[in-house]
Amino acid sequence: MIGLRVAGIDVGGTFVKWVLLGDGAERLDDGMRRLPDDGVFEAVADLGRELVDRGAEAVGVGVAGLVAWPEGDFVWGPHVPGRSVPYRRRLASTLGVPTVVDNDANLAALAELRLGAARGHRHALMLTFGTGIGAGLIVDRRIFRGRNFAGEVGHMVLDPDGPLCACGRRGCWETFVSGSRLDQLAAELADRAPDGALARLVAEERPGGRHLTEAAAAGDPAARAALAEVGGWLGRGVANLVTIFDPEVVVVGGAAAQAGDHLLDPARRAIAQVLQGAEYRPTLPLIPAAFGPLAGAVGAAILATETLL
Ligand SMILES: [Zn+2]
Repeated sequence: MIGLRVAGIDVGGTFVKWVLLGDGAERLDDGMRRLPDDGVFEAVADLGRELVDRGAEAVGVGVAGLVAWPEGDFVWGPHVPGRSVPYRRRLASTLGVPTVVDNDANLAALAELRLGAARGHRHALMLTFGTGIGAGLIVDRRIFRGRNFAGEVGHMVLDPDGPLCACGRRGCWETFVSGSRLDQLAAELADRAPDGALARLVAEERPGGRHLTEAAAAGDPAARAALAEVGGWLGRGVANLVTIFDPEVVVVGGAAAQAGDHLLDPARRAIAQVLQGAEYRPTLPLIPAAFGPLAGAVGAAILATETLL
């Protein structure tokens, strides 16, 4: 007898990732594939059909961008094509099984809350570092969505004269702190010091955040300074969010989790410096996520289990 099977799908700007979970959230299989430039929805529907053919009784989908809840309409996002696409309604009718659609970072937060680094907490903030910053806000053990779109914290404006953001405005938080920003700093360092530690690590590859992390671990001062700069901006933004949400824990995923303490320690120091009344508040753990790139897909399957079955 086959037990319960639920599929989770995470639609990003470049890749779609998926998991098939069994009873007790046991991971039966997972994978990722590159999305086409055109026909993203159709590619997601094809993947959903394959997972239903493999026994999925419900499907959860996360999409990067603004998603209306509970309708599951993908309204808009800077990284995923399409405007006002009724993802949930179209997928449910194509797949013939109950389907739920939410913002991808909300789902990553749900995965960390139920099975990962935020497990056991009541209030948590999850930040994922990719092309930008995604955030999931957990309040009273549930995803806080506001009217619909709460958690677009990467677009808090920290400097109105700052760098241009993908959203079209200037000085958003994610122009100072994101996986892309780490890649950009790595490229700058490699250019500036062609004989330096970073340039040697990069060799034939494109410079990326992970080279910064490796060079910092090997003791390179320039790489450490770059991670400390990004960490400082991370901490200042987190401090702002703490004044609003007062979470019990802040979990960081993606490139920030990989960078580890060379990025997180400067962030912790910045929080202690700028958070109002920091010395009177309980310690706020700022910790790496338990899930890697599959967090959104796992969270999508969990949401499908909790809301549909
Ligand atoms: Zn922005």
